[in-house]
Amino acid sequence: MEKYNTLIQMQRAFFTQGKTKSVSFRIEMLNQLRKLIKTNEKPLMDALKQDLNKSEFDSFISEIGIVLEEIRFTIKNLRKWANPRRVKTSLTGLGSKSYIYPEPYGVALIIAPWNYPFQLSIAPLIGAIAAGNCAIIKPSELTPRTSRILSEMINGNFPNDYISVVEGGVETSTALLKEKFDYIFFTGSVAVGKIIMEAASRHLTPVTLELGGKSPCIVHEDANLKLAAKRIAWGKYINAGQTCVAPDYLYVHKRVKDEFLRLFKESILDLYGMNPIQKGDFTRIVSERHFQRLTSFLKDGAIYYGGEHDLKKLMIEPTVLIDVSWDDEVMQDEIFGPILPVLEFDDLSSMVNKLNSRAKPLALYTFSNSQDVQSYILNNVSFGGGCINDTVFHLSSPYLPFGGVGESGIGAYHGKGSFDVFSHEKSILKQTTLFDLPFRYPNTKNALKKI
Ligand code: NAD
Repeated sequence: MEKYNTLIQMQRAFFTQGKTKSVSFRIEMLNQLRKLIKTNEKPLMDALKQDLNKSEFDSFISEIGIVLEEIRFTIKNLRKWANPRRVKTSLTGLGSKSYIYPEPYGVALIIAPWNYPFQLSIAPLIGAIAAGNCAIIKPSELTPRTSRILSEMINGNFPNDYISVVEGGVETSTALLKEKFDYIFFTGSVAVGKIIMEAASRHLTPVTLELGGKSPCIVHEDANLKLAAKRIAWGKYINAGQTCVAPDYLYVHKRVKDEFLRLFKESILDLYGMNPIQKGDFTRIVSERHFQRLTSFLKDGAIYYGGEHDLKKLMIEPTVLIDVSWDDEVMQDEIFGPILPVLEFDDLSSMVNKLNSRAKPLALYTFSNSQDVQSYILNNVSFGGGCINDTVFHLSSPYLPFGGVGESGIGAYHGKGSFDVFSHEKSILKQTTLFDLPFRYPNTKNALKKI
């Protein structure tokens, strides 16, 4: 579409002026973004409440607070990251020095999903700004109030030819993807990730794909079951299970399954009480289509806990399914909702083989106090990242690059990772002019002999 082409040309012209190359300018823009978020905290929380019924607590810890912390960390470290780095030079380069210069790509496109609609639009933007890029953000159409606030905040306070929000759905993404960008950062489903990569390949645009998948959670017989139950219930049901790294299903050792389930039920009650739907403070399912998709899983296996749902409120209470098999529908694709199927295992290596026969997951969680069990799983299963004796928490650390592998994604960000994602590393060898070694030239007499 003409208007997107014009916007991208404007951003390219802004980038070419070189203003974004200044680290002071980037820091100033990050500070401006931080202030803007702080002054808009209340309207943002209201928007998240309307879009997803998120509580203020959840909105702060999983959307606003996490982004403010990322900005603080980035500002603190940016000058160090942006400096050229001297690296070693090999013997053959005698007399020369080697450097890596991080440089911005240019104009980046950021496409965001609806589950953490604020955080997943702004966290990549922080990386794009820090690395010195211009950027266009396309938020999700399924969370329209948050998308509107994002647009008002960014378009009303930053020059459009520097950073800009474009609202819309699939048609908007499709039109944007026809244009040439210098980098595309996509967060969303595996299916759409493939569409993005195909579109990017037409212009040979590099991509980061933050995707999803079925993330397993293993509870071994030697785990601290009480703690495991509490931490798994928290990671699974926060945002009503609509979290890319939520435990998708549980693999519990046969010998402790009954005890674990009893403790798990207690943990759910502790966290959410009886009838969270009636109380009305549980995050809702984003759309009727997703609600129907999720409630269709309730016929699989048997309901051990929960199962209550309300179409009008688009809410499903925390639910646990038992007697589930790999052939059930609930075990085919990422669940992305507050339904947790529980499988059992009694042999670690056969369970690991089963995991390895599936797509590589975005996250994997191991609950065990045995170093051997922890190492066995870490060394034998490939997955994006995860925790030992916890869930979800790994993505809150700016020191741990966050991303998938295989079908769960390409690339990783957060902390310095975000700066790196949006930077090209330009390798430069600075040669001496004080002398010139003759061996490299083909016309050196007996060159090989001399070496
Ligand atoms: P989605 O793929 O449906 O949509 C994501 C974005 O892509 C939206 O902005 C949407 O408008 C756009 N889009 C949708 N269809 C498109 C098409 N055909 N062409 C171009 N653009 C299109 O994902 P979603 O439903 O918004 O989010 C849920 C998925 O995202 C889950 O699979 C989840 O695991 C994943 N996710 C991953 C991460 C991560 O960091 N790895 C984080 C959150 C969500």
